[in-house]
Amino acid sequence: MQFTIGDARVDVIADIECFALPAKRFMPTASLEALLPHREMLEPDHVDFEQDTILIGVQALLLRVAGRNILVDTCVGEEKPRPARPEWHARRASGFLEKLAALGLAPEDIDTVFCTHLHADHVGWNTRLIDGRWVPTFPRARYLMGKVELEHWLARQAENPGVNHASFADSVQPLLEAKLVDTVIDGQEIAPGVTLLPLPGHSPGQMGLRVTRQGERAVFCGDAIHSPVQILRPEWSSAFCSDGAEAIRTRLSLLECAAEENLLLVPAHFRGCGCARVRKAGEEFRPLFGA
Ligand SMILES: [Zn+2]
Repeated sequence: MQFTIGDARVDVIADIECFALPAKRFMPTASLEALLPHREMLEPDHVDFEQDTILIGVQALLLRVAGRNILVDTCVGEEKPRPARPEWHARRASGFLEKLAALGLAPEDIDTVFCTHLHADHVGWNTRLIDGRWVPTFPRARYLMGKVELEHWLARQAENPGVNHASFADSVQPLLEAKLVDTVIDGQEIAPGVTLLPLPGHSPGQMGLRVTRQGERAVFCGDAIHSPVQILRPEWSSAFCSDGAEAIRTRLSLLECAAEENLLLVPAHFRGCGCARVRKAGEEFRPLFGA
């Protein structure tokens, strides 16, 4: 999947093409029956109505802008011990780096890695296992992490190293030790026309990227929106949100803004074309897939 934002190019690189989550376990207040009128829009990419599951991809976004190679979110990765999630546990031969190579880039070509937040499915490829040690996968990159987010998980994992699938130890700590991490804050410009914006709720310090190039505008919004079902039903927060009510407020204001400004939304987990614009229909929102 590939699309453009003015002269910037975006490629979606799937680490896991399709991850099916039972609707109620993913979004406890969801009822897929309510979405049956939108069945044609949501199948086959986003919902399996027969199985009562919501389908997401675990994917990274490669943003090439102004000569920069920015990788947004780094998925689950390989070899990571995640026994609580068999689909993520000790993965091998995922093909992720081969997909990057097919786009013409070696790991050394990535100059910036940005994690919208530090959940285990957004930090995995930060590191890889070589000779029994977790080493940075992208050795020439600066790894950008939100200050609030990093401080939150530093404190949480100090209390309980097993939190967040114990991903801090294998996917964040080695980067801190290698001094490759830059903490960033809201409003900061990380590349020409690429600015950070706060999207708290799913995680306390989640941030997105606002990209403006040649009059085109997009927001890389991480897990503020997991699936188009949350455009249709913004009040369905995920079970993995640190503050579900705040996640709803963040999502509503993002959707209002997207509808008003004709923003292209680029969430972390959207399957299909990987992006959508938003239109308002009365008090409700509708996705319009594609750039
Ligand atoms: Zn996620």
